[in-house]
Amino acid sequence: MTSVAVIGSTGSIGTQTLEVIAASDGELTVAALGAWSSLELLIAQARATHPDVVAIGDASLAAPLAAAVPAGTEVLAGTDGLVELARRADVVVNAVVGFAGLFVTVAALSSGRRLALANKESLIAGAPVVQVARATRGAEIVPVDSEHCAIHQCLGKEAHRGVVNGPEDFALSPREVTRLILTASGGPFRGRTAAELATVERAEALAHPTWKMGPKITIDSSTLMNKGLEVIEAHELFGVDYDHIEVVIHPQSIVHSMVEFTDGATIAQLSQPDMRLPIGYALCYPTRCAVAFGALDWTSLSRLDFSLPDTETFRCLSLAYAAGRAGHSVPACLNAANEVAVAAFLEGRIAWGAIADIVEETLNRHETTKLVDVGDVLAVDAAARRVATDVTAGLSA
Ligand code: MG
Repeated sequence: MTSVAVIGSTGSIGTQTLEVIAASDGELTVAALGAWSSLELLIAQARATHPDVVAIGDASLAAPLAAAVPAGTEVLAGTDGLVELARRADVVVNAVVGFAGLFVTVAALSSGRRLALANKESLIAGAPVVQVARATRGAEIVPVDSEHCAIHQCLGKEAHRGVVNGPEDFALSPREVTRLILTASGGPFRGRTAAELATVERAEALAHPTWKMGPKITIDSSTLMNKGLEVIEAHELFGVDYDHIEVVIHPQSIVHSMVEFTDGATIAQLSQPDMRLPIGYALCYPTRCAVAFGALDWTSLSRLDFSLPDTETFRCLSLAYAAGRAGHSVPACLNAANEVAVAAFLEGRIAWGAIADIVEETLNRHETTKLVDVGDVLAVDAAARRVATDVTAGLSA
């Protein structure tokens, strides 16, 4: 039996995690649940799963939460409360949205837990700090992001090398792996030109063709920033340099990513686009879940298409590669600027095309620094948000 802490339990990944746990027939149990402010759903989840502890980020909601959860369930509040959940289970699912997930990632790893990582932002922005925490005895990251979970599966025994002695050991043997190939659906705007995209509406950007996800990641998919962030995530998770990480557009979202080996073989992982498969993989690893999600039906699957991305129109992808190559504080700046720009777009304050402009201008104004501790990451994040906010105000004025 494996106990699970689900932090960000009321979002898309969180609710699907609870479905996987419910389907596991007792193999997986809910030890802890946490959400930022979705009180009603958190209460319903706590009543259904009887965790040892629940936490709510918005401390003003702690009293109504405490009044409604089953007797004997401990109630914590605030960011500290959410982070504490990361020490209360065998496996920690970090399904927090955005940069706020950094604290959960660091807490889970530095307490020697398995981290089922759905919050890519924490690894991208805080990589130098997260890699140190990852070297803690017992700590390991199993990615929930579907592409990275696919690569983890394709690597097989190679993926296990990450568990030993520190960040340098996460690098794969260059003797065996030649390329990681991340697939991208291309999002709702695949095939369109920059001119055609100048006037797209929020609702169009939110209509993802293959995956049902939260609004932030759906907008990131429409700009290909999501794929750019995933390139950095792949570099950090698997230690492969940027020249050997490629992106191909694959509109059906059936091949979730691939690894090419030196002998010419490419191994791919295929399934329906169903996040419960990678969630289950991360929870049950190294064994396979007994319940299938996303299995293929070969009577209806007739073709798989691949093409190269249009990096002229989808500039966020190139910006992310450049930020990843620059390293240090630059990916944190990229991530912060993107969060500010996406929020402005979702609030109707800027055009879709301005997201890339804001990220690019914020990166131009950034001075690279070294990140040693979480405080350094927070400082870079805050400074980049101020700059991006100024840039955004200039654009929407
Ligand atoms: Mg993904």
